[in-house]
Amino acid sequence: MLKTTISKVSQYVDQEVTIGVWLANKRSSGKIQFLQLRDGTGFIQGVLVKKEVSEEAWEAAKHLTQESSLYVKGLVRKDDRAPSGFELTVTDIDIIQYAIDYPITPKEHGTEFLMDHRHLWLRSSRQHAILRIRNEIIRATYEFFNHHDFIKIDPPILTGSSAEGSTDLFHTEYFDRDAYLSQSGQLYMEAAAMAFGKVFSFGPTFRAEKSKTRRHLIEFWMIEPEMAFTDHEESLVIQENYVSFLIQSVLKNCPTDLKTIDRDISKLEKIKAPFPRITYDDAIKLLKDKGFDDIEWGEDFGAPHETAIAESFDLPVFVTNYPTAIKAFYMKPQPGREEVVLCADLLAPEGYGEIIGGSQRIDDLELLKKRYEEHNLTDPAYKWYLELRQYGSVPHSGFGLGLERTVAWVCGIEHIRETSPFPRLLNRIYP
Ligand code: ATP
Ligand code: MG
Ligand code: MG
Ligand code: MG
Repeated sequence: MLKTTISKVSQYVDQEVTIGVWLANKRSSGKIQFLQLRDGTGFIQGVLVKKEVSEEAWEAAKHLTQESSLYVKGLVRKDDRAPSGFELTVTDIDIIQYAIDYPITPKEHGTEFLMDHRHLWLRSSRQHAILRIRNEIIRATYEFFNHHDFIKIDPPILTGSSAEGSTDLFHTEYFDRDAYLSQSGQLYMEAAAMAFGKVFSFGPTFRAEKSKTRRHLIEFWMIEPEMAFTDHEESLVIQENYVSFLIQSVLKNCPTDLKTIDRDISKLEKIKAPFPRITYDDAIKLLKDKGFDDIEWGEDFGAPHETAIAESFDLPVFVTNYPTAIKAFYMKPQPGREEVVLCADLLAPEGYGEIIGGSQRIDDLELLKKRYEEHNLTDPAYKWYLELRQYGSVPHSGFGLGLERTVAWVCGIEHIRETSPFPRLLNRIYP
C-alpha cells in the first residue's frame, strides 16, 4: 500500500495510492459517483465506476455523508480539466466514520453561524487558503530575519507591570501578585537587542480594547524586530524590504490559494520596495486638502484618515514623525524639533490601515526618565528598562508588524476575523 497525500499525487501518475480523506461533496450519475475529497493538503476528485469496483465499495460510497472520513485507494490520473490537474480512479474505499448531518452546507450561512462553527468552518477551501497564506507569511518572516542574521528571542507573555500605562491590559493573578498579559514584547526586545544586536520576536499579544472594528482582534500575533546601532532611517529600509519580501513570497508560493479567494494579484504584484514616505505634518495638509475638517495637528488618525492618506499612493506608505504627545514614551524626539518623534506607521493600501508601528528609541537615560514621568508612569517594575541606558547605551530602533492585519490585506478580505484560526473578538471567546 502506497500511502500519500493529495499534494503529492503528481509523483504517482498511473500508480495506485491510498490517501486518508474527508468527503467534501459528492454527486452521482447512476453508474458513476464523483467524490470531492479533501485531506488538508488539497482537494481531488475521486471517480467510482460501478462496474469497475466491488459491490461493497460502491454501496459504501453511496452512503457517504459530507465530512465522512475514509481511506480511499485509487489510480492517479493526469487530467488537465481538473482544478488540481489530477483525478483519482477509485478502486476501493475503507470507511473510517460516516459523519452525522454536517451543519455547514453548500448554501450561504450568516457570519455568526459560521463563527459559532469555526471549528468546522476551518475545513472550507476559503479558510484553508487564508490560513495557508498566513502560514506562508510566517515562513517568509523566519526566512527574512534568519537571512539577515536576526536571532529570534521570545519575550514573556505574563508581565508584572503595565508597560505603557495603557488601560486596555488584561489583568490576571500571579500567585499573590498582579500580572498582565503582554500587549507588546518591545521593552524586553530592547534588552535582547543590547545582548544580541539584531533580534526579532513572534508571539501572541493581548489587548482588552473595547473597539469593534474590522481591523482589531483581542488576541493577535506580532512580529517585533529590534536592532542595535540602527537609526530610524535604517529601520525603514528593513521594514520596506521585509514587507515586499512577504508579498513576493506569497505570490510565488501561494498562487492556488490566492486564486481560491479570488485575490486581485495585480494589486500585490506592484508591492516592491522602496515605499513612499510622507511626514505627519504633510499628511494633515493632505487630509485638509481632501476636505477632512475633523482632524487637527496633534491628533491621532482614525481609520478613515488612514484610508484617505493611503489612497493617495499606490504602494504602502510610511507616515513619519508623529507628534510626541500621541506616541509612546520611549520614542526618540527629532533632534531640534522635540514636538515630533522619529517614528513611522506603515499604512497598507486598499483601506487596511496601519500594519507596522515603529520608531527609534530614546537612548539617553535622563531624557527617558523625564518622558517616563511625563506619561505618569510611576511603576518601579521598569527599573531594569531604564538601567539599559547605563551600560553601553546605543542608538537603536525597532518595529511591530501585526500578523493578522497583514494577512487580511494580502488576502484582500473584508474582516480580520478570518485571518485567525480561532479569533478572539469583543463578544466572542468561543469556540
Ligand atoms: P491601531 O492604531 O490600528 O489600533 P496600534 O497603533 O494600536 O494600532 P501598535 O501598538 O503600534 O498598534 O501595534 C503594532 C501593530 O500591531 C499595528 O501596526 C497593527 O498591525 C497590529 N495591531 C495593533 N492592534 C491590533 C489589534 N487589536 N488587532 C490586530 N492587530 C493589531
Ligand atoms: Mg490601537
Ligand atoms: Mg496606531
Ligand atoms: Mg501603532
